[in-house]
Amino acid sequence: MFYTYNQNNSGGIFDINDRVGQYVIIEADNCEKANEKAETVGIYFDGCDNDTDCSCCGDRWHRNYEEGNKQPQIYGKTIKEYKDDLDYYLDYYIGPNLVIHIYYKNNNHETIKIDAKAKIEENKKKQRDKAKKIWGIGFNLYGLWDTKPVRLYESKGFDKNNFWDKSGNLSVDKIGFDTSNAGCMTFSSESKKEVEEFIKEIQASICSAIDTVRERPKTLATEAVIKRLGGMLGTIE
Ligand SMILES: [Zn+2]
Repeated sequence: MFYTYNQNNSGGIFDINDRVGQYVIIEADNCEKANEKAETVGIYFDGCDNDTDCSCCGDRWHRNYEEGNKQPQIYGKTIKEYKDDLDYYLDYYIGPNLVIHIYYKNNNHETIKIDAKAKIEENKKKQRDKAKKIWGIGFNLYGLWDTKPVRLYESKGFDKNNFWDKSGNLSVDKIGFDTSNAGCMTFSSESKKEVEEFIKEIQASICSAIDTVRERPKTLATEAVIKRLGGMLGTIE
């Protein structure tokens, strides 16, 4: 059976060398034997108790108590499946280079190196090609996200049925006008023209709202007060 050890990047860095990587997979008859073998290839346990690992991040390595898998696996997927599913949620965690070490019972040692950054880009593009696409715009009280409609792709992954832009920074929860997320209101539609028209309208109303705010001190206060507050108001003038 194959036993997988997921490395925790305790202290913010992974140990990556010619013996261990983000994942180490060991073939053994049972988990006890796998744990014994693990300690001969650079894995250590109870790192926090021994002051080797950062106590807030937790132990770098954990003993295996599982039944093991018939073939090398990561999170229930074969290495190939895992690679083809790599997405940006893991991007920040595993870093740009992914290293997997597999130790077989016959003493063979296999090292798999994956350019995770490139693979994630490739997978994201594949997902975008398949995804439902809409147009949208985000805005808040200070202004608009962009002056043109932004392409948004339906996500079937972690954030089910949300729409995301290419950069992963703008998301839309529902089509149409959405104010449920106060930080960033959104408008989206399958029609690019509808979003373009919305942008025109909202731009005009944001401008008039700013004008109103600018006028307010002048109408409410005397010139003297305005002068006194001048320093504080600064840019409102
Ligand atoms: Zn920590």
